[in-house]
Amino acid sequence: MTTTVFLFRNDLRLTDLPGLAAASRAGDVLPLYILDDAAAGDRALGGASRWWLHHSLQALGEEIAQAGGQLNLLRGDSAACLRELLASRDITAVHCSRAYSPWEVALEAQLREACNALGVTFKRYPGTLLHEPEHIENQSGAPFKVFTPFWRHCCRAEAPAQPVPLPSETTWAEPLAQGAPLRELELLPTNPNWAAHWSTLWTPGSEGARKTLERFLQDRVQHYASGRDHPAEEATSRLSPHLRFGDISPRQVWHTARATLQQQPALEEQINKFLAELGWREFSYHLLFHFPSIEHAPFKSQFENFPWLGNETLLRAWQQGQTGYPVVDAGMRELWHTGYMHNRIRMVTASFLTKHLLTHWRTGERWFWDTLVDADPASNTASWQWAAGSGADAAPYFRIFNPVTQGQKFDADGVYVRRWVPELAALPDRYLHRPWEAPAAVLEEAGLSLGSDYPQPIVDHREAREAALAAYQEIRKG
Ligand code: FAD
Repeated sequence: MTTTVFLFRNDLRLTDLPGLAAASRAGDVLPLYILDDAAAGDRALGGASRWWLHHSLQALGEEIAQAGGQLNLLRGDSAACLRELLASRDITAVHCSRAYSPWEVALEAQLREACNALGVTFKRYPGTLLHEPEHIENQSGAPFKVFTPFWRHCCRAEAPAQPVPLPSETTWAEPLAQGAPLRELELLPTNPNWAAHWSTLWTPGSEGARKTLERFLQDRVQHYASGRDHPAEEATSRLSPHLRFGDISPRQVWHTARATLQQQPALEEQINKFLAELGWREFSYHLLFHFPSIEHAPFKSQFENFPWLGNETLLRAWQQGQTGYPVVDAGMRELWHTGYMHNRIRMVTASFLTKHLLTHWRTGERWFWDTLVDADPASNTASWQWAAGSGADAAPYFRIFNPVTQGQKFDADGVYVRRWVPELAALPDRYLHRPWEAPAAVLEEAGLSLGSDYPQPIVDHREAREAALAAYQEIRKG
């Protein structure tokens, strides 16, 4: 009987894994995950993502155990771990799903080399995207740089392949003697354990992902198109961390949503809008794959000379949700307490950091990378560049979100702000998004002392806007 290693990466599930299904058809499967922080470099997972990874690996381990096998965990240099494993066991092949960020692409080449040197086949499979990035190109054979034609092209292309099940007759290889228990990966926070309450918010793993999708398609999708911009409404799917870690594949999400549409044609607008958001995920990966430098450098090169200020005190106020702009502070506190922030508020807080505080988008991207459970190398980078104005298909720089009107428009009754900034709870709606304009009597009635209970705005909106536009003019001239 031959043995194939299946190396899990961003695909912590057992179904819709073509590489795992092929390994299973070939003989025994040795399921393996290697935590390799050194290879990831500055893309090593942040704290919130490590919490998710721990629980997702735990769920995967339980699923494999139910199917009669054992998930093997290693920590260290992936190529060295693999070499040691191949030298110690009779392995025919190593399979994995493709990954697309620059360090993962480089690692894939190293793993292939390590395998080939020992006469072992290395094979990678699709599984993480709806369409492989090199299959989608414009009429001149070049990658897309604008979302709308990209997504139109994807929708006209062949439908994503149907998800593949794990063959029922899968057999598992003997576990590795050198495998580490999950706790030795040291993924969970300690001292303090800031994620102690997160298991009441999230259920990592494929069962959690399946239920999250089911709940979305049953109870939430009806209001998706109109509700998705309103952070208090909970109209979106919350699938992002599940997709990030591959608890569920985008093809599973796609086909399940399409099946719902077939049964309920009245949901066409809602489901198409939802699928288009999955399209933004695809587009982000398309960009990262074809333009890997966007991880660190602006997509629009004129932004290389942007005069960022980088004031540490202002940055700290933003990170701690103490800017004096309620909707910004609500978002930053939601992020800290839950590992998640609503998309509309991500746009507002990212615009505020890059434009009002003239802080480099990379600084904000790093903060999100550390604090989001769905921190994604493609979506986070592309979205931050989009918000800063330096990205592909970015918001024009001069479109600077006004945090007061954004709050008034998308959180008109203040439910979101009151939830995350409770010190403002007693303010009337009229002043909730601009407490500094409230008359003294209103503040007193609300029991609020500005400057001690809640900060005065750390920058004046109008002045900050002028400064941002002036900075932009500088790079336009240059
Ligand atoms: P839904 O509205 O239910 O969307 C379904 C799925 O589509 C999401 O789960 C996600 O996988 C994808 N998606 C939705 N919107 C986008 C988008 N704008 N770009 C790319 N994919 C999208 N998303 C991440 O997954 N990881 C990140 O690190 C990330 N960082 C972001 C940073 C900034 C500054 C901004 C503005 C957006 C970022 N997003 C990121 C995109 C988006 O905010 C989240 O995907 C979305 O809020 C997740 O909630 P949901 O699953 O309920 O989304």
